[in-house]
Amino acid sequence: MENIEKNIKLVLQQIHVAEQKYQREMGSVSLLAVSKTQPTNIIKMAISAGLMDFGENYLQEALPKIQELGRYQPNWYFIGPVQSNKTRQIAENFDWVLTVDKEKIAMRLGDARPPELGPLNICIQINISGEESKSGAGLSDIDSLIPLIMEHPQLRLRGLMGIPALETKLHDQRSSLRQLREIFESMQKRGVPVDTLSMGMSNDLEAAIAEGATMVRIGTSIFGQRINNKKNIR
Ligand SMILES: *Cc1c(COP(=O)(O)O)cnc(C)c1O
Repeated sequence: MENIEKNIKLVLQQIHVAEQKYQREMGSVSLLAVSKTQPTNIIKMAISAGLMDFGENYLQEALPKIQELGRYQPNWYFIGPVQSNKTRQIAENFDWVLTVDKEKIAMRLGDARPPELGPLNICIQINISGEESKSGAGLSDIDSLIPLIMEHPQLRLRGLMGIPALETKLHDQRSSLRQLREIFESMQKRGVPVDTLSMGMSNDLEAAIAEGATMVRIGTSIFGQRINNKKNIR
């Protein structure tokens, strides 16, 4: 079994070191633990070690975990592709959705969000050029997505999310992440009230913090290598 608590300490330390190295404000980068494929007893260890934010990619896998861990009250982030027939359950069970890339999906999530839960936090997923998967909004889609999300009373626009193509060198990682940062900064300059730039995974955490990430999404470095079945290929 992995030593979850030790791994979490190491990741938090890496974040801290990168914040210092790149003159980021201390504590400005939050850690989202990606718990896909992990059973609830492992997630409980992460909760005991102080983590309260968990990302899940698959609704069917996540629902029983959310139900079982409900009394610990962690925050749940949906980080997989959103199918339109799943929007209701996602809106009812998650606190954030990081992977909104279509107007129709945004509308459906907002309309299905139970009012008593308050607005659902939304990040627009951007298709960073060079990304292998086709998910993510293109630049031309963002301009219509922003007002739609901002005007929906049951949605709260928080920022952007991206999954760049896999690179191994820091320099190459930084250049694709920089594109996402530039879009984020141009939104802020236009007065769009966004505070979340979600980028950076286990292999590009340092590059992401160097380029201004406010939320890194870490699976492997916390929970160990996932069993490589078809379901969890990213
Ligand atoms: C799996 C996944 C992660 C975590 O990746 P690691 O390399 O295991 O840290 C982050 N973001 C998304 C969207 C993922 O699907």
